[in-house]
Amino acid sequence: MKVIILGSGTSQGVPKIGCYCETCTSKNPKDKRLRTSAYIETEGQKILIDTSIDFRQQFINNNISDLDAVLFTHHHVDHILGLDDIRQINQLHNKYIDLYGNDLTMDELRTTFRYAFKEQLVSHLAVPMVKINKIKNEKFKIRNVEIIPIEVMHGRLPIFGYRIGNFAYITDCSRISDVEMNKLKGLEVLILNSLRILPHPSHLNVEEAVSIAGKLRPAKTYLTHMTHDINHDKMNAKLPKGIELAYDGLTLKLK
Ligand SMILES: [Zn+2]
Ligand SMILES: [Zn+2]
Ligand SMILES: [Zn+2]
Repeated sequence: MKVIILGSGTSQGVPKIGCYCETCTSKNPKDKRLRTSAYIETEGQKILIDTSIDFRQQFINNNISDLDAVLFTHHHVDHILGLDDIRQINQLHNKYIDLYGNDLTMDELRTTFRYAFKEQLVSHLAVPMVKINKIKNEKFKIRNVEIIPIEVMHGRLPIFGYRIGNFAYITDCSRISDVEMNKLKGLEVLILNSLRILPHPSHLNVEEAVSIAGKLRPAKTYLTHMTHDINHDKMNAKLPKGIELAYDGLTLKLK
């Protein structure tokens, strides 16, 4: 299995417009964060997690030109607004792309991208050609690949993280129940959100993310969905063993 972190930034991205702080003006490429997304290749399937606002730039940066399915964590704009760029995949490969997510996320996609679901328009390749698949908090398959949804709380909103084999990806989480924590045992790699240093009502901060990683004890944890509050080199040096900050372009090979 191959995993590429396409974006490790929060909804505003880093650098943030008009900010001249240490991280936003940093020369370190690891301090440049596009909006959160990840790409997975496993058992011949090419799976994207969320269609970040920066979809096009992320596919170009990482030389990706094909896709079979998208797993959506939730409907917030930073996670869905790049959906229109799926047109370019449709045109290259002449195929529909399967989208998976919970009921609310799929309903919101239909509303936000109303033009993509109008029958008269779909046949003209001028809209993203996609197929909506509503999923419950139960494992399902994309061809041979088993996907286990992990329902976590994002403030008061239940959203999905996903486990594929010994890899799990959780973003925009503020709390994980004991039942869902049990589904995250024995991981080789965990990607987990950590917004900033100070606490936040709907996102884990660094301290809370480190505490969850400490309970789950995956071989390796990478933190993502970060604001400019987190300077890569400074924060990375302070993290416990086995926990590191993710960065755009980080590529992982799993067994
Ligand atoms: Zn800044
Ligand atoms: Zn969100
Ligand atoms: Zn987000």
